[in-house]
Amino acid sequence: MNHFDLEDGGLACESVSLDAIAEAVGTPVYVYSSATLERHYLVLRDALVNAGLGDPMIAFAVKACSNVAVLKTLSRLGCGADVVSEGEIRRALAAGIPGARIVFSGVGKTAAEIEFALSTGVAEINVESEPEMDRIAEVAARLGRRATIAIRVNPDVGAGGHAKISTGKADSKFGVSFSEAARLYAKASNSAWLDPIGLAYHIGSQITDLAPMEAACLKMRGLVESLRDEGLSVRRLDLGGGLGAPYFDQPDPPGVEAYAAMIARVMAGLEVQFAFEPGRVICANAGILLARVIHVHRRPEGRNFLVLDAAMNDLIRPAMYEAFHDIRPVAPRPGAPEVYDVVGPVCESGDTFARERRLPPLEAGDLVAFMTAGAYGAAMASEYNTRPLAPEVLVRGDKFALVRPRPSYESILAAERNAPWL
Ligand SMILES: *Cc1c(COP(=O)(O)O)cnc(C)c1O
Repeated sequence: MNHFDLEDGGLACESVSLDAIAEAVGTPVYVYSSATLERHYLVLRDALVNAGLGDPMIAFAVKACSNVAVLKTLSRLGCGADVVSEGEIRRALAAGIPGARIVFSGVGKTAAEIEFALSTGVAEINVESEPEMDRIAEVAARLGRRATIAIRVNPDVGAGGHAKISTGKADSKFGVSFSEAARLYAKASNSAWLDPIGLAYHIGSQITDLAPMEAACLKMRGLVESLRDEGLSVRRLDLGGGLGAPYFDQPDPPGVEAYAAMIARVMAGLEVQFAFEPGRVICANAGILLARVIHVHRRPEGRNFLVLDAAMNDLIRPAMYEAFHDIRPVAPRPGAPEVYDVVGPVCESGDTFARERRLPPLEAGDLVAFMTAGAYGAAMASEYNTRPLAPEVLVRGDKFALVRPRPSYESILAAERNAPWL
């Protein structure tokens, strides 16, 4: 469920018309609904708690939507942060998320990033390889601060909506194998500078089927038990993110209740604290990308190109993952639907949001909304073609705030320097 609905004949976010936002801020622009963000977080948390999973640590995957105002909206409800870089740790801290609610993931953490993470007292650093674990121990020793770590296990389970977002197969770069995990866990337990708190996994993104998750959960349970049989202490199990959000062309993903019930069943009696790293399921349907039609190019041979002022640099998912986004006119016109290729102005054929999409008739100047654009939308945007990053607007009830303004061309150019020989 989300809070983007038709109101008085036009699409609105909560009680603010998208037309008013486009007038005030210009297009393209990302628009987020506070009510949807909050609802998705609370529904997930309640489902986990009601399934009997204790007091779970929920760390929002910052990379999915990293605007500080969005993070603050979630942080106020007690949500933590799953981060993959020093920059994301800084964002989480800026949003008021304390180190104790931050999980640091990622396959290539530098010594400087590890030092920063330890100095902020992060709850857990997820170790993805032995050289990384050794580096964490070295940095911890240098700082005189013990590092709380979890070993990220690669459960060799394929899952996720697209090959580029599947992370849990044995040949992917993420995590270590089961046998390696046991060896590293024992090694960490013997280190004065490492406190292995548990295990972590994250098998992919946009998972719409519980079966691979259940297979991974069963394997993780087995590993916890075998580590305990060796006398090792395992106190936390981080089950990653990956739960799919409903996109319009895809089968509905399992609901959070079914997800929580599956985990409760597989993990029954296993005494651990559970941690989760949800990204997309919280923010995908809480955001849209609002764009304006520049013109309709009607080829005499029959193809209609709907040319928008948003492009692949603003929303790269269709180009990168063949992702489908529902496209809705903000003020639908009456008339027979037409078939459009929906494209942006960037000089690449890949700058195509949709081919042969049936939409209500559209004309130059009309506004359209790309639905389900709150995850991996603004966060993956670039200034390719020297197009300024799309601004971000956060709505709450009948109010909205510009939470990242559109950069000026002057500021884009001012960031660059001349070489002394030019
Ligand atoms: C990307 C990522 C997530 C979030 O994935 P979603 O599919 O957005 O839920 C969680 N944990 C890790 C380690 C990630 O890399």
